[in-house]
Parts: sequence; C-alpha cells; structure tokens
Amino acid sequence: MPELPEITVIAKQMNKEITGKRIATIEAKQPKNLNMPVQKFVKTAKGKTVNNVSSKGKWIFIKLNPAHYLLINRGMNADILHFTPNHKLPPKYQFKLTFTDKTGFTIQFQWFGYIHLIPEKDLTTHKLTAKLGISPTDKKFTLEYFKKLLANRKARIKNFLVNQKNIAGIGNVYIQDILFKAKLHPNQKISTLSGKEITNLYHAIQTILNHSIQLGGLAYEKDFYGQKGKLTITKFLVGYKTGKPCPTCKTPITKIKTGSTSSYICPKCQPLK
Ligand SMILES: [Zn+2]
Repeated sequence: MPELPEITVIAKQMNKEITGKRIATIEAKQPKNLNMPVQKFVKTAKGKTVNNVSSKGKWIFIKLNPAHYLLINRGMNADILHFTPNHKLPPKYQFKLTFTDKTGFTIQFQWFGYIHLIPEKDLTTHKLTAKLGISPTDKKFTLEYFKKLLANRKARIKNFLVNQKNIAGIGNVYIQDILFKAKLHPNQKISTLSGKEITNLYHAIQTILNHSIQLGGLAYEKDFYGQKGKLTITKFLVGYKTGKPCPTCKTPITKIKTGSTSSYICPKCQPLK
C-alpha cells in the first residue's frame, strides 16, 4: 500500500507534467470511485485548468481553476500513469483524464480507491481528507509541533503514529524502521517517553521517509511514468525481515502481533519498558 513517500513522489511528477493544462475529456468506467454520478462529474471537471498538484498523507490534491479540487486516493495499490499522444495507453484502466493538448493520465485501481471532485469551499468539510493530520514532510511539522502533538497522550506509540488523524502518511510499511531507528517498542505508551526519545523519534520519522523519497519509493509501486521505486525490502532495517539479524546487534528480528497489525522488531534494541 502506498504511503507518504510514494504519494509525494507521484504528486511532484504530476505537478510538473499537468500544471497549467485544461481538462478536455474524462472517461470513468467505475462510478463507485467517484463522489457523484459520472455525467455530473465529467460536466463539472470539463474546461477546468490544473493550478497545482500537492499531497497530504496518502492523498493527492489537484487544485483546479476555477475553485475546485480533484482528490485522489490510490487505495491499496492503484497505478496512476501519465500518457502523451506518442505513447500507447496502458492495457487496462478504470479512469482516464485527457487534457486539451491530448496528454493526460489513467488510473487503474487494484481494490478500492477514490476520485472525488469538490468545490474548494467544501475542502474543510470533505469527510475523508478534512481531518487528516499534518504530513511529516510539511514545513509545519517541526520538533516543537511534534512534542505538542504527543503531550498528554495515553495511546501506544505505533497506534498513534499510524492514525492518519494524528499524522498523515505513515502506515504499516514505514512505521517498522521508524520505531527501530528510534529504539522504541511499538507498544510503548507515549506517556513514558522521555524528551530525548521524542526527539530521536522525530528525526527517525524524517530520516526514514526522506530516504525512501530519494529512492523514488517502494520497489513494487509505480510512479507517474510507470517506473518502479528503488526501495526494496532488502534495504529495510527490520521491516518484513523476520529471523534476519538486527543491523545493530545481530539479534534475530521477530514478528509480533500489535493489535490488528504485525510489527517487526529487534527484541534487544526495542525492549518494552
Ligand atoms: Zn538489535
């Protein structure tokens, strides 16, 4: 499932390719992804121009002129692929948006996913994105902000960090190496963390996510040009590496159940205190 690094990479590429372009036609073969009937969706989008493309957590925000947003969530693993008149379209797609210059993009969902078109004034009340926390790559996500966010919280650290309402963009893939790097057990209570541990955790979040962004994201996710990222599982520190030696102390990595999800930890470097 794509998390913040993969979405950041694709949103930047989309911003570069489609900014300033005017929507000519839309083909939507799977109405359940949309937030309104297909005909209305097409009519509303047609003729609008892309102002810019950004991302927040696992969502892509395409700002349109005049005053609308196209919000895309890739769900489990949707491919969003750029096309130009000289390139063949992908063999399968459920959504196709073409600009007046005949370039555009297709979307092929694997499972669920959303393409919502909303007036700009409804952005603050849009059910799925309005309550998202700040992304760790946002300028507003400072150490001070992070400390305030964790103050007086009673939750366990992993559950808190993967909750998109607290921080947008971290899921079960990147959380593993973040907690290992910060030397924290996933079930550690936030109230027990020292100031130094919170500072280390803040830097671990930045380091792990930015490292992946630099590598173009995960090796099994495609970017806007159909290229796969360079972050393979062999490059993970502990994530998905049950039985392999811990990169710090060589203790075998173990897989444990944490609520409804699995966690990969070094039992020696990440003891539950
Ligand atoms: Zn270790």
